[in-house]
Amino acid sequence: MQNQMKSSISSFPPIAMVKASSYEEALIAKAVERLFSELSISSALFEGKKVLIKPNLLMRRRPEEATTTHPQVVLSVIEWIKRAGAAEIVLADSPGGLYTPSQLRSIYSACGMEDVAKKSGCVLNLETGSGTVPSKNPKLCQDFNLIDPVRKADVIVSVGKLKTHCMTGLSGGVKNLFGCIPGLQKPQLHYRYQNKREFCSMLVDLAQTVAPVLTIMDAVESMEGNGPSGGSVRKTGFLIASQNPFCLDRFLCDLIAMTPQQVPTVAESIQRGLCPEKSEDLLILNPDALPTLLRDYRHPQSKTIDFSGNVPSFLQPAVRWTARHLLSPKPIIDTQKCIGCGKCAESCPPHTIHIQNRKAQIQYKNCIRCYCCHEMCPVKAIHIKGRS
Ligand code: SF4
Ligand code: SF4
Repeated sequence: MQNQMKSSISSFPPIAMVKASSYEEALIAKAVERLFSELSISSALFEGKKVLIKPNLLMRRRPEEATTTHPQVVLSVIEWIKRAGAAEIVLADSPGGLYTPSQLRSIYSACGMEDVAKKSGCVLNLETGSGTVPSKNPKLCQDFNLIDPVRKADVIVSVGKLKTHCMTGLSGGVKNLFGCIPGLQKPQLHYRYQNKREFCSMLVDLAQTVAPVLTIMDAVESMEGNGPSGGSVRKTGFLIASQNPFCLDRFLCDLIAMTPQQVPTVAESIQRGLCPEKSEDLLILNPDALPTLLRDYRHPQSKTIDFSGNVPSFLQPAVRWTARHLLSPKPIIDTQKCIGCGKCAESCPPHTIHIQNRKAQIQYKNCIRCYCCHEMCPVKAIHIKGRS
């Protein structure tokens, strides 16, 4: 479907989308240039500043696997910001699993970020310190422990990857910022906010606190199906950006044919007035007349119906227990594929996975259906299946 929407009444910052049919260097550089120009991004935003680039480096994957932000997109964004006169550019993320210098080196190398640093001269973060930052306009979380590069930056640019997500529906601008939480403190937050809506509300608190000045989404090749790591690559052919990550996600939600109810971070952002309820109220700058709806985009198998909001409060815990244990799909270990690496056990918030005879085993009684194990398995040996 060809579509171009431009409203003059939107009170929210605009979203720009431009064509980029491949990761060829000159083509991406031109597309990034056009994105910045469409959004009227001024050099003054970066001039003399310490800029943090926050890509999605979920795990040790090659760029062509579409799990991580493509290095060519990151490089072109850095080059633009360098020309704008940034004082220093640091590239940092806290991937899933341990947050250690050796783990970071290994992921930077696999994801192509080492080459980005060599070509651009940006600093690859290897510091693993963190500290408490008070939340801005919180609904749930009064403060967050954030990695040092986030705390020290003057401005933050989030460069994510368009992917589906087994727990949150969409891995967009808001979810990309979960990587500002150090290492294994991420599973702790999953454990603290076991209800999906509460977890997503926490993510919105986090996004308001980190407050990136610009969010860019690499959707040249995206991930559909069981994202953010177990899905399949889809050539979508564009880059999308906005200064407002909530509006960007509201748009992405429509783009991949999901409703805000299926993406609780978006439903929460709408409720807080951070983005409009109706996509007609978004201002979309689409000079290439790209599709704004991909009807056949494959969704995660973990999609569940959460109807606990419609029952009396005293019944909600029971309804949530039923939804989690009887209605939610569960993670299943493929023992043929499992190599016993223990990454799933390391990331499991309630520690309900054990490795026995070099194979992972799940005790379902305590499983909170967060799908962190599925997300972190390096060999895709955890499937999400049916009802228990
Ligand atoms: S087994 Fe997997 S889905 Fe269940 S709690 Fe552990 S990490 Fe989450
Ligand atoms: S299921 Fe995956 S992450 Fe867990 S031990 Fe096996 S290979 Fe490693």
